[in-house]
Amino acid sequence: MHQHDTERLTRLPDNTTDAVTIIGGGPAGLMAAEVLIQQGIRVDLYDAMPSVGRKFLLAGKGGMNITHAEPLPQFLNRYGTRRDNIAALLQDFGPEQLRDWIHGLGIETFVGSSQRIFPKDMKAAPLLRAWLHRLREAGVQLHMRHRWQGWDDDKRLQFTTPHGDVTVQAGCVLLALGGASWARLGSDGRWLPLLQTRGVSVAPLRPSNCGFDIPWSEHFHTRYAGQPLKTLTATVTRHDGSTLRRQGECVITTQGIEGGLIYALSAPLRDAIDATGKAELLLDLLPDWPLEKVQRELLHPRGARSLSSHLQSRLKLSGVKAALLRECVGAEVYQDLPALAAAIKAMPLQLSAPRPIDEAISTAGGVAFEALQDDLMLRAIPGVFCAGEMLDWEAPTGGYLLTACFASGRHAALGALQWLSQSRQKSDSEPGSADNEEQAS
Ligand SMILES: Cc1cc2nc3c(=O)[nH]c(=O)nc-3n(C[C@H](O)[C@H](O)[C@H](O)COP(=O)(O)OP(=O)(O)OC[C@H]3O[C@@H](n4cnc5c(N)ncnc54)[C@H](O)[C@@H]3O)c2cc1C
Repeated sequence: MHQHDTERLTRLPDNTTDAVTIIGGGPAGLMAAEVLIQQGIRVDLYDAMPSVGRKFLLAGKGGMNITHAEPLPQFLNRYGTRRDNIAALLQDFGPEQLRDWIHGLGIETFVGSSQRIFPKDMKAAPLLRAWLHRLREAGVQLHMRHRWQGWDDDKRLQFTTPHGDVTVQAGCVLLALGGASWARLGSDGRWLPLLQTRGVSVAPLRPSNCGFDIPWSEHFHTRYAGQPLKTLTATVTRHDGSTLRRQGECVITTQGIEGGLIYALSAPLRDAIDATGKAELLLDLLPDWPLEKVQRELLHPRGARSLSSHLQSRLKLSGVKAALLRECVGAEVYQDLPALAAAIKAMPLQLSAPRPIDEAISTAGGVAFEALQDDLMLRAIPGVFCAGEMLDWEAPTGGYLLTACFASGRHAALGALQWLSQSRQKSDSEPGSADNEEQAS
């Protein structure tokens, strides 16, 4: 669009001192809107998409895992090096309070066998519908199809819309712009340089809870892509020498491997590839069988039977698991049964790269906690708060992502409230100095 045919609008909230402009209508931004509107603050929420909560709805497609029932210390450990930062956010609004809040929307929840917590019908749509109804009734103003592009020279927010450019004067802003995966749902990470140019320290956005590339042979991926590998144990060694071990399932893809087990190990795998260009995963294909038993069964006389039918009859190793073993282990190992037994219990799988960030479940990197005050206000830009996945933390799947997004939205909103109240006190004691009076003139 050319500058000369863009329609330029300037919108002023009724009273800038008692208004917050939220950009981003995911779980973090909507939670912030709720906290603020309940306190009588005018809330204008802008989002690039035609409707809010699109990633939240997608998360509900495969079963909306909203939080987790494990004890809080364990829960907090899932945030790794950012444990303490997230603990501060979850202090008043942790998994239990989140669950109560969901019940308050008329949505029942249940604890699954893995201790994961889901809405009773597993879906996100009824929850979002009830929530949006409540927010609209309370007076939250939603401005859809407004993509934020940064600030103009007068520090006004700039948006592009299908009807031209829009400029918004805002005293207090809360950014909840998400990460950079599934860009077609709205979060594309383009906010990162906008904050960087204003002196905010940000870590590069990287895929988290993602799949990985493996250069499979043509034969293997054409036959086995899409097939699930059930109940494996996978171990990765971190660069400090410690190991992370998880049991679960994953899926062979044309390009490599993905699924819950891989996502759970994706952070150290991605870090290893960043540091050395490759990562190795050790798979135990028969986690319920001790090595000695695998050896004993393999060494059992097999008569005229082929080795593959021997593996199938003695170890129940067949199909995609047996094919994976064949794909990853050299022919010489098949001549040496003790070595083959060892490979079945610790089969090295070489990963070459994480899948592109757009395919990831979530994003690591973002606004550094060091760039934020405890109330989530940017140190470099007073009056601008940040929340949700755009902050520099990551966590595995299991409800930890949404829990921290909700809690950070609430925490940033409480920070904004406090900031508004301080600005009001300041403007009361200095007549004529209030932002809104100057801007309206
Ligand atoms: C397939 C999938 C399944 C998932 N399943 C789960 C799960 O079961 N449990 C779980 O805990 N988590 C899950 N997640 C992760 C979870 O959905 C996200 O962590 C969460 O939605 C992030 O919330 P947010 O509010 O920070 O950002 P988002 O939900 O990404 O919302 C950000 C909003 O900002 C808007 N926006 C971005 N840039 C701009 C701009 N420049 N101008 C205006 N608006 C903008 C976007 O349109 C979007 O509406 C899943 C994610 C995916 C992709």
